[in-house]
Amino acid sequence: MTSASATSARPVPRPGVLAIEPYVPGKSAAPAGVSKVFKLSSNETPLGPSPRARDAYARAAAKLELYPDGGAVALREAIGARYGLDPARIVCGSGSDEILSLLTSAYIGPVDEGLYSQYGFLVYKLAILAAGGTPVVVPERNFTADVDAMLAAVTPRTKVVYLANPNNPTGTYLPFDEVKRLHAGLPPHVLLVLDAAYAEYVRRNDYSSGIELVATSDNVVMTRTFSKIHGLALVRLGWCYGPAHVVDALNRIRGPFNVNGPAIEAGIAALADEGHMAAAIAHNEQWLPWLTREIEALGLPVTPSVGNFLLIHFPKTPGRTAKDADAFLSARGIILRAVGAYGLPDALRLTIGTEEANRLVVDGLKAFMAGGAS
Ligand SMILES: *Cc1c(COP(=O)(O)O)cnc(C)c1O
Repeated sequence: MTSASATSARPVPRPGVLAIEPYVPGKSAAPAGVSKVFKLSSNETPLGPSPRARDAYARAAAKLELYPDGGAVALREAIGARYGLDPARIVCGSGSDEILSLLTSAYIGPVDEGLYSQYGFLVYKLAILAAGGTPVVVPERNFTADVDAMLAAVTPRTKVVYLANPNNPTGTYLPFDEVKRLHAGLPPHVLLVLDAAYAEYVRRNDYSSGIELVATSDNVVMTRTFSKIHGLALVRLGWCYGPAHVVDALNRIRGPFNVNGPAIEAGIAALADEGHMAAAIAHNEQWLPWLTREIEALGLPVTPSVGNFLLIHFPKTPGRTAKDADAFLSARGIILRAVGAYGLPDALRLTIGTEEANRLVVDGLKAFMAGGAS
């Protein structure tokens, strides 16, 4: 396979790289002429970050010439204190996307398989392909990961199993008993990655982000992000908690200064503002059920969600499809997320927004279903 590039007139990427479909982020712009835009396409918080995080970020502007602390020690200590974890078993990254990529490239190579469920977060597939591995997609039931099907798909080549819990874009979750059953059925050499990007939003007694499982196993890693409830998506900040041997592997392959200084400062400040986080949780607790009810009342099925977003299903009827709804709402400045790339061409994902945005979404969908012009 190297011989082709040896005779090539220009550098050629490794086999498979050009077969990867680039990730398409949620839209952020509306058509020309729309004055106010409500971006409800990327699960960003309508409350913004803590004002303390904003201040800390701004203060970092006074020392742009300095390298950040490559070990992100102060941030890892703040995370450790907040969650009762050993900072030595935490790795920070430029978004949890970077952590997911690092984990994948550390454990998956050519001929290895990475396994995730049917509507699982797309970054897993991209990371597996980028590492030269083979993505294995396991069917879901009711838009929810199916533990038995996942275990049945494990082969001697499986190196990593990814589970977003709750999952994006479906909003569904697995109770902790099911996660434990998944873990118990995996061979010890398979790494279980629990992506808990939306853990803070979940209000269910049978849910756990997986911290206990990491603490008591040698093959489980939990990833978290500052992009969602902490409102710091712009600065790119995420982290993971894992066994010492996994942390050691990640620290060997990550960039020496992979987390930037303003992100470290903002992250520490965000963790300290528990009131802001409580407000974000309360906002979601109020509007998630309201939007679910109101949208279902319009005859549009909504997958029950425990996150800060909803998956709305549209009919295939011409004029009433997800694509039609997307165009109709966009013309009103309301931007949802098309999820065709997830194999969900008949659905749109809606992020819980401000009260104003949420009411406009319901009004917009009402007009759409009534067949009115935008
Ligand atoms: C948003 C999201 C992330 C977070 O990505 P960052 O790189 O930290 O911004 C991770 N996993 C899932 C499932 C997500 O939806």
